[in-house]
Amino acid sequence: MEKIKTDKVIIVEGKYDKIKLSSIVDAHIITTDGFALFNNTEKRALIRRLAERNGLVVLTDSDGAGFVIRNKLKGYVGNDCEIINLYAPQIVGKEARKNKASKQGLLGVEGIEAETIRSLFEKAGITSDGKKSAVNYTKTDLYNLGLSGGSDSSNKRDEICEKNGLPKGMSANAFLAAVNLLGIELSDWRLMGQEKYLMNKELHYIDFTPYSDNWNHEHCEFCGVRFSLNESDKHKGYCTSKENSKDAHWICEKCFEDFKDTFNFKIV
Ligand SMILES: [Zn+2]
Repeated sequence: MEKIKTDKVIIVEGKYDKIKLSSIVDAHIITTDGFALFNNTEKRALIRRLAERNGLVVLTDSDGAGFVIRNKLKGYVGNDCEIINLYAPQIVGKEARKNKASKQGLLGVEGIEAETIRSLFEKAGITSDGKKSAVNYTKTDLYNLGLSGGSDSSNKRDEICEKNGLPKGMSANAFLAAVNLLGIELSDWRLMGQEKYLMNKELHYIDFTPYSDNWNHEHCEFCGVRFSLNESDKHKGYCTSKENSKDAHWICEKCFEDFKDTFNFKIV
């Protein structure tokens, strides 16, 4: 039978639940790893953003622990976020892989029949009409976009995180998972509202000079690349003033080429 495809993110407790769900639903599935989620600030922030964006489907076990997890999740996300709670029937039993049954002797999500789980989704109105989040970046994409492997990559990731309400300091792998889950478009991650202050600007192509002894570098307004007198940094670029000053904005050659039409830059 065809899988149910949805852009909602599904929360389950453990990896076996996730494996089970993957055979029924084509969607992003996040595990809480029991209660571990509650000590993982990155994951909690991610879930909050996902809830705001796509809505969550929560399918934890129908026991006391599953109930606690549902309530905690509800507390993490805003009141106006959509959470669809699916409740698996309480069936007494034990999964074959386990030595003994759970505390309350009930089957977990992983032990419930696929048809039963499928009907929970259908009853909640989650059918195949939905779609999975469109972006699917790989590690290579991140590298090519300068978002991993470079000296400035973690700063760039932080900028994107800040813009998208994610915590700073994510590792490249955590970041990759987050952008794919949230459907964050990275094709032009450099555009972050610069039109507010750079539209139609006149630019001077000048050598970088520090404007004071205690401010020895600048960053490209788009990609964040550094300008300084250090060998590894850029030494020339497009600047909004004739000579470097406290309020000057700098743009590197690459970003100038990429955005000169969009921003209607003029060289003077
Ligand atoms: Zn740049």
